Amino acid sequence: MKISFKVLVKYLLIILVSFFIGSSIGYKFPNFMIQLFTSKDSTLESSIFDKDELLTNIPRINLLKQKKLIQVKRKANNIILLIGDGMGTAQISTFRMLRGGPNDRVSVDHFPVTGFVLTHSSNAIITDSASSATAYSTGKKTNNGVLGLDKDQKFIENITEKIHKYGFVNSLISTSDITHATPAAFVSHVESRSNSDEISKQILESNIMTILGGGRHFFTPEEEGGLRKDNINLLDSAKLSHILLTQRSELESFDFASKEKVIGLFADRHLRDVENIDNHALEPSLREMLNFAITRSSQHNKDGCKGFFIMAEGSQVDWAGHANDINYLKKEMHDFDQAVQLALDYAKDNQNTLVVVTADHETGGLLIEPEFLKNYLTPQVKFSFNTGIGYGSHTGVPVPIYAYGPGSENFTGTLDNTDVYYAMLEALDIGNEERNCVD
Ligand SMILES: [Zn+2]
Repeated sequence: MKISFKVLVKYLLIILVSFFIGSSIGYKFPNFMIQLFTSKDSTLESSIFDKDELLTNIPRINLLKQKKLIQVKRKANNIILLIGDGMGTAQISTFRMLRGGPNDRVSVDHFPVTGFVLTHSSNAIITDSASSATAYSTGKKTNNGVLGLDKDQKFIENITEKIHKYGFVNSLISTSDITHATPAAFVSHVESRSNSDEISKQILESNIMTILGGGRHFFTPEEEGGLRKDNINLLDSAKLSHILLTQRSELESFDFASKEKVIGLFADRHLRDVENIDNHALEPSLREMLNFAITRSSQHNKDGCKGFFIMAEGSQVDWAGHANDINYLKKEMHDFDQAVQLALDYAKDNQNTLVVVTADHETGGLLIEPEFLKNYLTPQVKFSFNTGIGYGSHTGVPVPIYAYGPGSENFTGTLDNTDVYYAMLEALDIGNEERNCVD
């Protein structure tokens, strides 16, 4: 059949007009068609090796200034500080989506005050847990790897030591070894976070009333199957100075009238080690440990203490990031979320309690992307860690902070990690009467 030139032009006109009307009412010409008509590079064929990178030295010309705080009028007696190690906004969003979809709301979503925390240390843009936790516990920046000392290796008093003198009772909780960097920054003063022989000694000598976590092997000499190089059996010493707990059931049967110090070591190393599951059925969750510490601390308040401070760490959110493991992350975020909810519920019932939830840094460079680049309408979402498969590292992005209760107004906007310490102290009704409520 012969098609005349006139008919061809007519069809062409119809197609062009249809396309014009179509695109003006929202129809988007498929990407690949647009690429046919443009000479620009397609992003479809690019790979992770083509990602936009800028390798540069970051100048540090400005001195750090402490954030100006709002004077808190209605003060808190108690602080519960929850640290999700390695927990950035992407980790929280991933947990939210995997648990119940984008309209789900996890515990931190119910906090009225939110802000951002900058995490760099004194000698690095990318912090480790030791220097970041030292910033939270002392208000001073230090070098990576250092605990409770400043960058010149000088002793810095931490928050638990400071408020203990004014009648407060302190607890530290962790799902890793209790000698690990984050809890250790609230109790010890050492040049290196790897000096666990010394950290565990300082833990036993400290004024911390309740210490719960893993790490029995750091209290046991090598010749008895532990990891201590100095061959001192600190577990024996712990039994003299503390009540030693080793199983979850002992948290339930505990006599809360007791005023003795408690150390709970529920695993040889960190809790919930999937590769060594032998003693892990006897372990408590983070929420159960926090519940124990809150119950114990409240009892101390009734018996004359001025208030309490609890630091509880969800340690393995960080390890899931290092391992680039989304399922691991989901489990650890669930464990942390349950503890956050308990703290929030307690603070709602006890209006003299400030709850602060934050992280020490982000780990893994977690991305949430559509299944196919730029095809946002796909129901599939891709979660991926972008700091290296199997060897993920910390990143320098700010972490979120959430607060509820008296003094929470200072945890909004952008804070340096050292500001968190000062904001916690500003919230607390410390008073000026020096007294120990426990020995
Ligand atoms: Zn880490």
